[in-house]
Amino acid sequence: PPSLTTDALLRSRAEAVVPGGMYGHLALPTLTGIPQYIERANGSRLWDVDGNEYVDLMCGWGPVILGYRDAVVEAAAEAQRAKGDCLNGPSPVMIELAEIFVATVEHADWAMFAKNGTDATTMCCTIARAKTGRKKILVAEGAYHGAAPWATPNPTGVPAEDRANRIPYVYNDIESVRAAVTDHADEIAAILACPFRHYAGLEQPLVDEDFARDLRDICDEIGAALILDDVRAGFRMHHGSSWEPIGVLPDLSAWCKAVANGYPISAVTGNDDYRDAAASIFVTGSFWMSAVPMAAAVATITELGKRDAVGRMAVVGEQLRAGIRASAERYGFAVSSTGPVQIPTLLFTNDTKYQLAKALSYEALARGVYTHPARNWFISAAMTDADLDMALTGLDGAFQAVRKAYPDAS
Ligand code: PMP
Repeated sequence: PPSLTTDALLRSRAEAVVPGGMYGHLALPTLTGIPQYIERANGSRLWDVDGNEYVDLMCGWGPVILGYRDAVVEAAAEAQRAKGDCLNGPSPVMIELAEIFVATVEHADWAMFAKNGTDATTMCCTIARAKTGRKKILVAEGAYHGAAPWATPNPTGVPAEDRANRIPYVYNDIESVRAAVTDHADEIAAILACPFRHYAGLEQPLVDEDFARDLRDICDEIGAALILDDVRAGFRMHHGSSWEPIGVLPDLSAWCKAVANGYPISAVTGNDDYRDAAASIFVTGSFWMSAVPMAAAVATITELGKRDAVGRMAVVGEQLRAGIRASAERYGFAVSSTGPVQIPTLLFTNDTKYQLAKALSYEALARGVYTHPARNWFISAAMTDADLDMALTGLDGAFQAVRKAYPDAS
């Protein structure tokens, strides 16, 4: 395995001054074989603090979509930085960015900007409530929509009242939605959905197209908003809203991760029916109007289109999935490879404690490939054929090594 001496030292220094050493989904407290600290990155490559180089299949957990330090995005950010970032009011680049969203995203008649994905999903719910005067939001069981009290998967420190207006349904199960609607008729402000099933640590099937269409119909029937949480999938599955290819347009969408190739910004887009409600709520943040991320977002969305980034990520993702399946079969492992190919989830079928998955990640790191054992990975458009070869060779070697360590595992 790669030497992680400096990483271990940093982990223990952090223990003294950061509660728990690290927090949130980037924390790897028990995964000491995966570098917690990263020194630098470029294109599709990442270097940890011990100087080990990896071809990266996590992309900063999604934000990096054109590759780290993309020259065009960095130049746009640098040009804005020279003019200013946090100013007394927004830079004109805010309007340019809103215009790009409206031009690129089919359902979007307007856009608003914030910082985190949680800001955006929360704003969507607030706008839906402002418009409908109702309070309940249908949320798929196990889906992640952010870290605010209403959304967090960890109820520690959160009063039940903060989550009282969530009504659960089961993703891809329209009867569960109908039952929730029957039980709460006239109370439902919105149905919140992700473009595919976002269950951490579990398989992530694609949406059933009829399910998505039925959600749209139900929202129209009951006068509720269909909110698409495109924070994770946005601009990776489609150059526009993720359900456009299946003809389902939400009323409101939350965007974040890949919007600015790593610069901090999120967005809400909506249609004209929700414009007045969006204008009526109070939302803001100290850094929400910071102009550098907006300039980076304009450059990112433009370049994504110019380079057919979705097409490239799909090609790379298909080949990665095929290669992984071939390697798993070669060494006799039952695996599932789910989710869109650009956001793949690899799990061993008989691996309840993620023992095989962890071993595979560690062995992949030893061969210069950075993955995560239990969460979905992210592909960037910067992956070259040589990067893909390196990833597939590393993963094949990793499967072989796991087979050696676990001769009886299936
Ligand atoms: N929704 C989805 C689908 C997400 O994947 C995430 C982040 N992983 C969020 C919301 C929350 O975004 P953030 O962490 O930027 O607040």
